[in-house]
Amino acid sequence: MNVINSSSYDVVVAGGGISGCMAAVAAAREGAKTLIIERFGALGGMSTLGLVQPITTWGLKGEYVIGGTGRRFLTRLAEISPYASTPVTTYGPTCDTEYLKIELERLCFENDVHILYYGWIRDVIKDGNDRISKVIVLTKEGDLEIEGKVFIDGTGDGDICAMTGVPYEDLAGTVGQQGMTLMMVVSGIDFEKCLPVDKMKEIYDKHAVSCRTVCIFPHPRKGSAYFNMTEVYGMSGIKAADLTNATLQCRRQAWDILKVFKELLPGFENAYIEQTAPVIGVRETRRIKGLYILNREDVLSGRNFEDRIARASCPVDIHSQNDGQAVYYTLKKSYSIPYRSLVTREISNLIVTGRCISTDQSAHSSVRRMAPGFATGEAAGVAASMALRTKDVREVSIPDLQNRLRDLGAILDADV
Ligand SMILES: Cc1cc2nc3c(=O)[nH]c(=O)nc-3n(C[C@H](O)[C@H](O)[C@H](O)COP(=O)(O)OP(=O)(O)OC[C@H]3O[C@@H](n4cnc5c(N)ncnc54)[C@H](O)[C@@H]3O)c2cc1C
Repeated sequence: MNVINSSSYDVVVAGGGISGCMAAVAAAREGAKTLIIERFGALGGMSTLGLVQPITTWGLKGEYVIGGTGRRFLTRLAEISPYASTPVTTYGPTCDTEYLKIELERLCFENDVHILYYGWIRDVIKDGNDRISKVIVLTKEGDLEIEGKVFIDGTGDGDICAMTGVPYEDLAGTVGQQGMTLMMVVSGIDFEKCLPVDKMKEIYDKHAVSCRTVCIFPHPRKGSAYFNMTEVYGMSGIKAADLTNATLQCRRQAWDILKVFKELLPGFENAYIEQTAPVIGVRETRRIKGLYILNREDVLSGRNFEDRIARASCPVDIHSQNDGQAVYYTLKKSYSIPYRSLVTREISNLIVTGRCISTDQSAHSSVRRMAPGFATGEAAGVAASMALRTKDVREVSIPDLQNRLRDLGAILDADV
C-alpha cells in the first residue's frame, strides 16, 4: 500500500479527482516521487464521491479526440465486468463508482503514487515570491507540512492558486456561479416498463420539483440509474454555508423527485434512493487566470494552439445562474487546450489541471467535463516531471512534452 511515508516529494498533487489522479500517475510513471493529497477517503472526486456519471465527452462524429491513459483505464474498467462500466464510446461510459474508486487506487499503486487521505490543504508556504515550498495539510493529528519541488492544483476550485495569490475569476458575487446538484442513485427500476424519455419529460415537467427536467443515466448494474435532477442556483461552491444550504435543499428535492417518479412514471413503482452523493456537485467556482485564458471563440472555432497538450469536444453547457437561464450548444469541431492555460504568470513551480484551468466561462463549461480532465491531468503530470529538470514549469520544452504525450496515446491533432 502506497501510503504517505515522507514529508518531502518531487511532485505534490492537491486533490484526488480524476484530473489530479491522472496527473499523479503520469508524474510518478515518469520517475518523480509523487504524493496525492485528498481531503476525503477515496479517489475520483466528482466522478465517485459526487456520483457524477457518465464520463464524457471523448470525441465527435464517432471519432475520438481524447485518448491516453484515461481512455485505456476506462476500457480496462469496462472489461473487468459489465457491472463495472458500460462500454467506452466517443460519448463516454457510465461507471459504477465503487469499481471506479478501487481501480483508480490500483492505477496509483501500479505507478507508485503515494496517497494521503483525510488531509485538507489549508495553506502554502512560499519560498520567495514565485515558488511554493510546502503545503500545510489540516489533519486530525494537527498540521502536516509537505515539501515539494513541483505542485499540481487539482482541487477543482483552484485552492492552491488562490492560496498563492494567482488571480482568478469567481462569479459568486456578480452573475452567480452555475447551479449545484446533489446526484443520486435510484434503484428498483423496471426499465422494461419505462416510457420513452420524451414522454417521461412530458409527465414529469408538469409536476417538476426542481428547475431541471428528467435527466437520468442507466447504471451498469440492472435496475439502477444516476439521477442528475436536483439543482439550486445563486450560491457559491466555496462558501461553507452555501454548500450546506445547497446540500440540504437538494436532498429534499431528491426525495420529492422520487415521489413524483414513483407516483406518475411507469417502471418506478418500486424505486428507492440507494444513495445521495456524499458530496454536493459543484460545477463552477474559481477559474484561474493563467498565461492564456482559453475563450469561447477558441472553443467555437476549433482553434489549434502551437502549445496544445490536449483536445476537447464537449458541448458548451452553462447551467442556471442567478437569473435561472441556462446555455447549451454542441460543437461542430474539436478544439485544443494550450499548455499556457495550465500555468501561471505568478508561480514558477505550479501547474493547474481539471476544472479550474484558465478559461472564460463558456470555455470552462465545456472543458470542465471529465474526459478533458483525464487529458489535462496526464499533461500536467508529464510536464511536472519535466519541470524537475527545468526548475520552472513555464520553461518545459513544448515539443518534448507533446512528443511524450503522443507516445502515451494522447490525441493532439484531429480531423473533427
Ligand atoms: C452535477 C454535476 C454533473 C456533471 N455532469 C457531468 C457529466 O455528465 N459528464 C462529465 O464528464 N462531467 C460532468 N460534470 C463535470 C465534472 O464532473 C467535473 O467538472 C470534474 O469531475 C472535475 O474534475 P476535477 O478532477 O477537476 O475536480 P474534482 O472532481 O472536483 O476533484 C477535486 C478533488 O480535490 C479534492 N480537494 C478539493 N480541495 C481540496 C483541498 N483543499 N485539500 C485536499 N483535497 C481537496 C476534492 O475532495 C476532490 O476529490 C458534472 C459536474 C456536476 C457537479
